[in-house]
Amino acid sequence: MEQIIILGTGIGGLTAAIYMARAGLKPLLISGPEEGGQLVYTKEVENFPGFPEGILGPSLILNARKQAEKFGARFKVDIATAVEQLGDKGFIISLAEGEKIKTKTIIVATGASAKWLGITSEKRYKGRGVTTCATCDGAFFKGKKVIVVGGGDSAMEEALFLTRFASSVTVVHRRNFFRASKFMQGRLSTNSKCTVEWNKEVVEILGDGKKIFGVKLKDAITNVVSELNCEGVFLAIGHNPNTSIFKGFLEMDAAGYLKTDRFCKTSVEGIFAAGDVQDNRYRQAITAAGSGCMAAMEAEKYLRERGI
Ligand code: NAP
Repeated sequence: MEQIIILGTGIGGLTAAIYMARAGLKPLLISGPEEGGQLVYTKEVENFPGFPEGILGPSLILNARKQAEKFGARFKVDIATAVEQLGDKGFIISLAEGEKIKTKTIIVATGASAKWLGITSEKRYKGRGVTTCATCDGAFFKGKKVIVVGGGDSAMEEALFLTRFASSVTVVHRRNFFRASKFMQGRLSTNSKCTVEWNKEVVEILGDGKKIFGVKLKDAITNVVSELNCEGVFLAIGHNPNTSIFKGFLEMDAAGYLKTDRFCKTSVEGIFAAGDVQDNRYRQAITAAGSGCMAAMEAEKYLRERGI
């Protein structure tokens, strides 16, 4: 029987692991399908305290993992597929590779994954011109015309990053204002490679079956459909929480984010949650790390108070 299993290896899970490991509890982390979480796909993190010059997302994750390992955290590359309660004795977690692991407590730090538009043509061209990760795929679009869909900080960040490769970057947004921070909007507006298509929705990706050559845009006000030439479509339209395995077991809000109290406790005693899986509001590396610390301290207290 494990003392503590942490589901997820993003910055929330890793911070929880550092705290649990330093408390001598040798946490076991299950990687999940996106090992390292969203920061692995982030270029520069400029707002994590302690790094005045910024730090690359993957470096931050690697450092946190080394730090957790140094104190005794263990890692398993696998995906949790189900969680069940073992009476009052804890929980049993089923993994995709077939293993079942018993544990006294769980910290859920499964994060959130990129949203897709939900149109048929997007699936056809996924990985062949349509992507959710500029950091991963930007270099394939050298000298090409690309679009970025979205109006948040991610869209601004992706667009600015893509200007290093693309000949031009058009941000397509369904409203006439961005929700991104003024700072990021300012950077976008002063970059000569960037333009914006306001009040437009992507309704179809156009291509020859192998690669894309444009998109159909519908004007959100007039409903007029137009075409825009491009060879790459980068989606930056937010994320969905990775909570499907907890449906009917842990309480969640309408969008699927886990409900927690201010001590990171979920609706089931002994299960705590940290990071984006329970945070629809801030979704920052630093807040994920902060809640990872809180969840770990509460889980450690839970074990200690029960003498287990
Ligand atoms: P977000 O703030 O939720 O923005 C998502 C954007 O996508 C919104 O503009 C939204 O439009 C649009 N959108 C959603 N669904 C859509 C659809 N089906 N079709 C077309 N457009 C759609 O997500 P985010 O930009 O990923 O940012 C998430 C959090 O991370 C935020 O708190 C952000 O500040 C933070 N972040 C910070 C940085 C940084 O500081 N450097 C970088 C990246 C992210 P509407 O505006 O119409 O809703």
